[in-house]
Amino acid sequence: MKKIIFIFLVFSVLVGCKSNPISGRAQFMLVPEDMAISESNKAYKAMLTPIKKEGKLNGDPAMLERVQNITSLLVAQAVVYRPDARNWNWSVQVIDEPEVINAWCMAGGRMAIYSGLITKLEATDDEIAQVMGHEISHALLSHTRERMSRALAMQLGITAISIALSDEQYGGIAVQGTALAAIVALELPNSRTAEGESDRVGIEIAAKAGFDPRAAVTLWKKMADESGQKDSRFDFLSTHPAPVKRMEELEVLTQAMLPYYEDKSPRPAHPVSAGDI
Ligand SMILES: [Zn+2]
Repeated sequence: MKKIIFIFLVFSVLVGCKSNPISGRAQFMLVPEDMAISESNKAYKAMLTPIKKEGKLNGDPAMLERVQNITSLLVAQAVVYRPDARNWNWSVQVIDEPEVINAWCMAGGRMAIYSGLITKLEATDDEIAQVMGHEISHALLSHTRERMSRALAMQLGITAISIALSDEQYGGIAVQGTALAAIVALELPNSRTAEGESDRVGIEIAAKAGFDPRAAVTLWKKMADESGQKDSRFDFLSTHPAPVKRMEELEVLTQAMLPYYEDKSPRPAHPVSAGDI
C-alpha cells in the first residue's frame, strides 16, 4: 500500500502540470476541470444556504440588478477568452454584509459580491467592473482549480504520511480530500503570479466590456484608504495579497487598455442569473 501511494503521488505531480491556454503558464493541476466545478457548486451551496436563511441575500433588488447588468457585460467578453465557459452556470448574488469588503467567482462562474464593497467604498460601476473582472479572471485562468489542487496535494501528503503509519485507513480518503479542497481553496490566498495574471486579464475584459480602466487604480486606492478603518472586514485583501508594485503595474496596464474602452462598438451581454440557492 505504501508503495502504491508513493507512485500515485509522483505520478500526480508528473501529469499535474499543464500549460494554461490564456496565460501560457504551467500550472499544477491535480483536480480535473469538471471536478473543480462540481466541488465548487457544493461549496457554493454550503456557503450561501445559511446566509439565505439569515435573510442576508439580495435584500436590495436595485443593487442586485446593477451588479447583474455589470457582470453580464463582463461575462460576454470573458467567454471569448475561453469558449467552454459559455456553458458555465454564470450567476451573481449580493450578500448583505455592509461591513464586509469582499467578492469572489468560483470555478464554473458562480459569483458573489458583499454589499460593503459597494457601499463602504462608494464604488462606481467602473470600479465594481474592475473587482468582478478580476474575480472572473481567477476562474477563467483556473486559479481556483490550481488552489484546490494545492489543497488536495497537501491533504494527500498528510494522508500518505498517516497511511504510512497505519495501513488500514485508506477507504474514502480521496473523496473526503477533494470536497475539503474546494472549501480550503476559497480561503487560500492567491499567489502574486496569479494576482498579476488576474489584474491583467481582468482590466482587459472590463475595458472591452466598456468600463473605464482608470477605475482599477481608484478602486485599489479606496481599498488602501478603507483598510485602515476598524469597522471594516477586509476579507478581500486576505485572499488577494496586494504588493506595493501593484498600483504602478495597473497604471501601465491602464494606458494599454484605453483604446478598448474608447472603442464605440456595441457591447454584448451574456445572461447572468441571480443564482439558485
Ligand atoms: Zn485576486
